Amino acid sequence: MNVVDPARDVPQPVTIVGRAAAETPFVGPETLARSRGGGELIRLGANESAFGPAPAVFAAMVRSLSEINWYGDPEHAELRAALAVVHGRPENEILVASGIDDLLGLLVRAYVGADGTALATDGSYATFVYHVRGYGGRLATVPYLSDGRVDLDSLATAARANPPHLIYLANPDNPSGSMHGRAVVDAWLAALPPTSLVVLDEAYADFLDPLELSGAVPANVVRTRTFSKAHGLAGARIGYLLAAPAVVRALEKIRHHFGVARTAQAGALAALGEPAYLASVVARVAEGRADYAALGRRLGTPAQPSHTNFVCFDLGSQARAEAAVRGLLARGIFVRKPGRAPLSGWIRVSVGTPDQRERFAAAYAETLTDLSESSS
Ligand SMILES: *Cc1c(COP(=O)(O)O)cnc(C)c1O
Repeated sequence: MNVVDPARDVPQPVTIVGRAAAETPFVGPETLARSRGGGELIRLGANESAFGPAPAVFAAMVRSLSEINWYGDPEHAELRAALAVVHGRPENEILVASGIDDLLGLLVRAYVGADGTALATDGSYATFVYHVRGYGGRLATVPYLSDGRVDLDSLATAARANPPHLIYLANPDNPSGSMHGRAVVDAWLAALPPTSLVVLDEAYADFLDPLELSGAVPANVVRTRTFSKAHGLAGARIGYLLAAPAVVRALEKIRHHFGVARTAQAGALAALGEPAYLASVVARVAEGRADYAALGRRLGTPAQPSHTNFVCFDLGSQARAEAAVRGLLARGIFVRKPGRAPLSGWIRVSVGTPDQRERFAAAYAETLTDLSESSS
């Protein structure tokens, strides 16, 4: 009789997956709440919208539930037609998927894969790195500048020295909140190798005047957008990219055709018809950022400039920032912090409603008092 070795004689994943670390890019607030024994957290850690979608969007999604027994349109035709008008681009330059996170996976799978290389900022958006690891590609990184902005010059130098298959830039950046303006990004794009696919992750584009974003559309540039942030539809899972038709055709070969629910498509389409609501969210978020800036000054933890719906506070050291995240969680408030220097002494806090901001401010002040008492 054969002896069964339970460690070996079982199905094995492919080598790349077997070797990958069992890590998710982000621990969810539900997981954190369960680890504290339950109860709701105030969610200021994932840059979800505190203001939700427009009432008309909600109504469109509820109406679409009457067809929930049907798959969604695999070509997202109505939504792409509307996006084509919004962006002034042809429909064959638009691809819809279940959020930017899904699109990043498709881009990495198609352009990096198991034998390719990617270049990004060390400590920038973690889901991108997660996909590079999961598909087995090699990742090169450059650090942030000392003020927490992305170092475009070093990215360009590294890319020219050794052209990667894919270059990732979140602009505005998460987790720093910083951004580079249109002229700087256009000059940067022009300095990159034409064979590298450049992914401009513009998840926070809706918080900006469109004129502040790069206007260049070279064939090697992809822009990703989402309904998760300003439009308030993070739970619906829907986003899209703008790219040259050849890039869209490549991704069409591998995407999950029925991965975007009807309700999500209906919600996104309706959201495009609510520009006044979007503007009101953007204005309320700007108010929240100003509140946080004042709070940071009052408590001696400076708020960093942000072009997004979150603000980072500088606590001066990684140990203090980690203790602050724990202290806030103990008070029922979920925030996150950047992991890599020079951002590792920061905490990142999404803009909440005025009521949530008040509760955050009180809990944060208490937490900082605890910190100074335990260190004195
Ligand atoms: C929030 C965020 C995403 C995720 O977008 P989804 O469309 O919800 O997947 C992607 N990139 C950046 C930089 C983000 O901050």
